[in-house]
Amino acid sequence: KSDPQCPPDVEQLGRSTWTFLHTLTASYPANPTPSEQSNVQQFMGLFGKLYPCWVCAEDFQDWMAKNKVRTESRDEFGRWMCEAHNEVNRKLGKREFDCGKWEERWRTGWKNGSCD
Ligand code: FAD
Repeated sequence: KSDPQCPPDVEQLGRSTWTFLHTLTASYPANPTPSEQSNVQQFMGLFGKLYPCWVCAEDFQDWMAKNKVRTESRDEFGRWMCEAHNEVNRKLGKREFDCGKWEERWRTGWKNGSCD
């Protein structure tokens, strides 16, 4: 297991980055303005170019070219990010996540109160 006090490997970087990206969708407005939507589109475009795992970034950019970022609402952005993460999960042979539950996992906490 990688040491958190040492430079991150691809897995550690990935976990931290998904935490950031899903939290970004959780804090996105339910009804974003055109300028808020444009900021997210620019950010995700640059993220795809700059993500510091080059093979990951290349595949992610290919996926984003076919699956344009959906920014019209928090729920659409959150689901789009979940679908992006599931694409990587499939590639790595990991279990897919139920995107109907993205908001419980990353914004509200689980309905059974386990995060309260
Ligand atoms: P992670 O996949 O990091 O997930 C963390 C937590 O997110 C999970 O425990 C779960 O609670 C939740 N979660 C899981 N799936 C979803 C979902 N669909 N929606 C919402 N929440 C979810 N690694 C490679 O080896 N090769 C690659 O090409 C590669 N590409 C990547 C591209 C990007 C853009 C990013 C951010 C990461 C990439 N990674 C890649 C890293 C990889 O996705 C994992 O982060 C890493 O393998 C660690 O996996 P993990 O099992 O700890 O959980």
